[in-house]
Amino acid sequence: MKSLRLSATIFAIVCSPHARAQQLLLEAEQFADTGGWEVDQQFMDQMGSPFLLAHGLGVPVRDAVTTAKFTAPGTYHVWVRTRDWVAPWNAPGAPGKFQVLVNDVPLKEIFGTMGAEWAWQDGGLIEASGEAKIALHDLTGFEGRCDAVLFSRDAAFIPPNGGPELQGFRTEALGRSWVPDDGGTFDLVVVGGGIAGTAAAVSAARNGLTVALVQDRPVLGGNGSSEVRVWPEGHTRQQPFTHIGDIVEEICPQKSAGSANAKGAAVYDDERKLRVVRAEPRITLFLEHHANAVNVANQQIIYLTAQQTRTARQVKICGKLFADCTGDGAVGFLAGADFELSTHEHQGASNLWNVFDVADKNQVLHCECKDKDALAMAVKAGQTAAPFPRVPWAVDLSDKPFPGRAKSKGQWANTPLANLGGWFWESGFDKDPIRDLERIRDLNLRAMYGAWDALKNVDGLYPNHRLGWAAYIVGKRESRRLLGDVVLTGEDFRTARVFPDAAFPCTWHIDVHSPDPRFAGGLQGEEFISQATTGGKYNYQGPYWAPYRTLYSRNIGNLFFAGRDISVTREALGPVRVMRTCGMMGEIVGKAAWIAVRHGTSPRGVYQDHLALLKELMVQPGGMRRDKLDGGLTGTLSAGK
Ligand SMILES: Cc1cc2nc3c(=O)[nH]c(=O)nc-3n(C[C@H](O)[C@H](O)[C@H](O)COP(=O)(O)OP(=O)(O)OC[C@H]3O[C@@H](n4cnc5c(N)ncnc54)[C@H](O)[C@@H]3O)c2cc1C
Repeated sequence: MKSLRLSATIFAIVCSPHARAQQLLLEAEQFADTGGWEVDQQFMDQMGSPFLLAHGLGVPVRDAVTTAKFTAPGTYHVWVRTRDWVAPWNAPGAPGKFQVLVNDVPLKEIFGTMGAEWAWQDGGLIEASGEAKIALHDLTGFEGRCDAVLFSRDAAFIPPNGGPELQGFRTEALGRSWVPDDGGTFDLVVVGGGIAGTAAAVSAARNGLTVALVQDRPVLGGNGSSEVRVWPEGHTRQQPFTHIGDIVEEICPQKSAGSANAKGAAVYDDERKLRVVRAEPRITLFLEHHANAVNVANQQIIYLTAQQTRTARQVKICGKLFADCTGDGAVGFLAGADFELSTHEHQGASNLWNVFDVADKNQVLHCECKDKDALAMAVKAGQTAAPFPRVPWAVDLSDKPFPGRAKSKGQWANTPLANLGGWFWESGFDKDPIRDLERIRDLNLRAMYGAWDALKNVDGLYPNHRLGWAAYIVGKRESRRLLGDVVLTGEDFRTARVFPDAAFPCTWHIDVHSPDPRFAGGLQGEEFISQATTGGKYNYQGPYWAPYRTLYSRNIGNLFFAGRDISVTREALGPVRVMRTCGMMGEIVGKAAWIAVRHGTSPRGVYQDHLALLKELMVQPGGMRRDKLDGGLTGTLSAGK
C-alpha cells in the first residue's frame, strides 16, 4: 500500500490535470469490444495490468475495438505497450504482429515486433479530434499482445515503463481513484476460486459464515476449469470421515466416457461450480478480481485489495479470517507469511492442447476454433486441407523426438495424436514459477507450435488436421508453499505417520515431475517434456490422512490455506495436489473457520482447544446448513454423486 501512495506523489507532477488533458490512455483490456482477443491477467503482479492476447493458434483473431475521445484536437504521439514475445530466445520473425487502426486506417508501424521486455513501441504521429474508432488488428493469430495504447499531445513525454511509476501513471491517466471502493466485511475471505477455494467458500457458508470468494478469472475451478482442462483425480468420502468430500463431489464435473485432460470445454462443467456457489446466499462472489495488496497489523490480515481485471476498479474487502487458495500463496506472500519456493528442479507448468481433423464434419461441428463459421463453410465446400506455416520462431523440433512423433510413443497414450498436448508437455523446471511465468507459458506455446510444424511440414503427416484448442491460462503445479505448524514430508507418507489432527485423505502416489531425459537433448534449461516419479519409494500405499496443521499459517494469525500452496515439502506436494484432495482441504478450512469465528479463536486455536469439535463437524454431511452462526446444522442438500 505504501508504494501506491508514493507513486501518487510522483504522478501528481506528471499527471496534473493539465498533463492529463494532454494524454489519452486506453487500457487494452478495457476496449468496449475485445473481439477475438483474450483478457490475460496472469502476470498482473509483474506488470500491474492485464493485457489482450491474440491467441488464434495461427489464425488471426477478430479485431478488438473501442472509441477514443480526444478532448482537444491536435497532433498526438501514439505509443503502444507491447513486446516481441519470442525475443527472449532471440528467435526470428516476431510472430505476434498486429496493427493499430485509427478510424479504420492502420498506423504505419507494425507492433509486437520490438524487444524482449514489455515496452512502449513508438507508433508515430497522428492528427486527431473528437471521437475516433481505435482497433487492434491481429495479423498472425500467433499470440500477439497489447497492454495499452497511449495518445500524447506532449511530444517530449516518454511514458514510464515499469514499477510504481507505471502503476501510478495508469491510475492517474485513467482518472481512477487511489481509494478502493468498499467491498464489504466478511467472516471469511477466500482468495482463489480453484477447487480448493470453491470448496472452502461453500463449506464455510453452509456452516453459517459470511464469505467473500475472490477469483481472478470469469469462471471457477482453476486447473479444473474449461480454461485449463485438468481432470480432477483423488478419492473422496474415505473411512472414517465418509462425508469429507461431499462438497467436492457437488462441485466437480461428473465422470463420463470422455473424462480426461484437454478434452472439450463441456467436460469440465464450469457452470456446475458457479451454480453451487451462487446457491449459497452467504457467499459474495468477486469474479474477475485479482487480489493484489493486503493490510496487516499485529500479524493479522485486516483487509485486502482486489482489482477488477477488466475495469481496474479496486475494492477493499475486510475479513476476520482469510484463506489463501491461490495456488501461488499470493495472499500469504503479500502478508509476510513464511513460505518456501523452489526456483530450480521443481515441477513445471503446462498449457494443454489438442488437434482435430478438418475432414471429419462432426469434429468441425464441435471444434472450439475462433474461425469456426468460416471453417464449417470451407468444409461444406469440400476444402479440408489444413496447411500450417513454417514457424522459425518456435522451438525447432524438426530433427528432435517428442511424444506423438514416430518412435516416441512413450508410455502415455495408444495413438500418436493422443500424445500431443498432455500433462507431460511441461516446462519451467528451473525458472521462477511466479516471476518467470509469462516466459514459461510462452515456451509451452513455442513447443506446441514447433511440434505441429515438425509433424505437418517436416514429417508431412496429418494434412487435414489442425490445432484445435490450447490453454493460454497456465496450468501450474508447484509454486509457493506456505508454512504451517506442521510441514508434511514425503517420509510422512512412506511411514504412514499418524497425526492427532488427521483431517483430509490423500489418495495419490508421490508424484513429482522432472524433465524427461529422452526428450531433453539440446534443450538444456528449456526442456518441455516431463516424467513423473514411479515405483519403489513413490508408490501409493492407500489413503493417508494428512494433518489439519498444514492448513494455516504459522506466523500470520488469521490465515488459512488450502490447495497446492499448503504446508508441505516439495516431495509431499506430489500426493496432496490432486484436485479432489485439494477440495477436501477447503471443506476442512470452512469448518475450522466456523469454529474460529464462533469461539473467537485463531486457526491455531482450533487445533489447540477445539480439535474434538472439528472432528464432530467432520462427521456431518457436507450438504447440511447452519441457519445462523450459533445455530445447529440442519437439513441435507442433495449431494452430487
Ligand atoms: C497439467 C497439469 C496436470 C495435472 N493433472 C492432474 C490430474 O490429472 N488430476 C488432478 O486431480 N490434479 C492434477 N494436477 C494438479 C491440480 O490441477 C492442482 O494441484 C490443483 O488444481 C490445485 O488446486 P488449487 O485450487 O489449489 O489451485 P488452482 O487450480 O491453481 O486454482 C487457483 C485459482 O486461484 C486464482 N488466483 C490466483 N491468484 C489469485 C489472486 N491473487 N486473486 C484472485 N484469484 C487468484 C487462479 O486464477 C486460479 O483459478 C495437474 C496439474 C497440472 C498443471
